[in-house]
Amino acid sequence: MGEGPATGGTGSVTGRPEPATAGSFAEWKARRDRLAVRAVAYGAVHSREIGGRLRRAGVAPEEVRGVADLARIPVLSKDDLPALQVADPPFGGMLAVPVESLRRIYRSPGPIHDPEGDGDDFWRLAPAVRAAGFRPGDVVLNTFSYHLTPGGLMLDAGFRAAGCIVVPGGVGNTAAQVELAIATRATGYAGTPQFLLTLLERARELRAGGRPLRDRDAPPLFRRALVTGAPLPPPLRARLQEEFGVDVYQSYGTADCGTLGYECERKDGWHVARDLVIELLVPGDRRPAAEGQAGEVVVTSPNEVYPLVRFGTGDLSAWKSEPCPCGREGPRLAGFLGRVGEGVKVKGMFVHPRELAAALGGDPVVERYQAVVREDAAGRDRLAVRIEIAGGRGEKDARVAEEVARLRARVAEAVKLRAEVEAVRAGTIPEDAPALVDERRSRAARSFPPGR
Ligand SMILES: [Zn+2]
Repeated sequence: MGEGPATGGTGSVTGRPEPATAGSFAEWKARRDRLAVRAVAYGAVHSREIGGRLRRAGVAPEEVRGVADLARIPVLSKDDLPALQVADPPFGGMLAVPVESLRRIYRSPGPIHDPEGDGDDFWRLAPAVRAAGFRPGDVVLNTFSYHLTPGGLMLDAGFRAAGCIVVPGGVGNTAAQVELAIATRATGYAGTPQFLLTLLERARELRAGGRPLRDRDAPPLFRRALVTGAPLPPPLRARLQEEFGVDVYQSYGTADCGTLGYECERKDGWHVARDLVIELLVPGDRRPAAEGQAGEVVVTSPNEVYPLVRFGTGDLSAWKSEPCPCGREGPRLAGFLGRVGEGVKVKGMFVHPRELAAALGGDPVVERYQAVVREDAAGRDRLAVRIEIAGGRGEKDARVAEEVARLRARVAEAVKLRAEVEAVRAGTIPEDAPALVDERRSRAARSFPPGR
């Protein structure tokens, strides 16, 4: 356990024994083991935080011989960084080099200080830029902030390392950025997906309104985009492609870890960056997530400036082990599935809106659903799920009773808890009702996104 996707006893992550796949998987696994050993050995000596955590766990660095041995080391949660940095400023004992050797120091929300080591492309973004099809000489408008947080310079460094020319647009100023992109003949965009749409719509308005865009014969804005920092819902990607002709790729990373994953031309999950180890651990008991199961992205990185051992990002993803036709090795991450903090603890187990969505979201008989966590008179947690059944005449309907029994089993399997499942009349659950509501008196009321 603890090494890549747990696969329920098939013996192979891919479940496909073709020699080519098995070979690249073995290679991938061996490389991960080497990276884990290196990160622990280096971190134990150069990072006070890692050395201290290993000692407290009673783990000698030489006992870690691969990813499986990481399971003995407690996870350091990103949420713990602010306190750690206050106690041991500015980097909480995690910096492995003298501060004088750094290039820049940033501050991200938290607040968390992030170091940028010397050298080009410190966050290793160039492979993501290339996988997105950018080529040397492409002019790219970068709309991430160049101020305080590392986003802007992170992307900037990756594009420059890939040979692109960056227009440092920064945040906001929609009209000025449209004008700038047209004037500089920018064919590439870097930023959030939503701001890309805003720029494209503004450009269309300006053209339609006959406003004197200085260069009316300029080609359409942007052909290719690398987006990150926000989810890219499939309908938005389709719209950007079909309505505006922009080929959009996602990359995923954090200020602490640098690039973690990115899409290739298949756009079917994120290939994991080659120079670090990602484990996906189920929130709550922190066991390795099975294929398709949501788990926290936990990072181990032998970075010489800022080594990480089992750093819990708080982001949720899932493994997708089927080999990618592009030929890159190893399993992919199935996109961003939310944050760990969005889960609710029921009977000591985390229940997450994503698990409910996985169990019920795509089911053809489920019109709408809502899970409610309550306390009974004895203060015990109760999980109840109300479901509107498509075409059902009510709970007395024999077919509905059958469907309810089936859905009850699906929910129990997804959340690993027994739930009371009840069919309700169409229209009972409001359209914008949250999918998961915590009504326990002992906790502040919390709710989560709509269930359909
Ligand atoms: Zn691929």
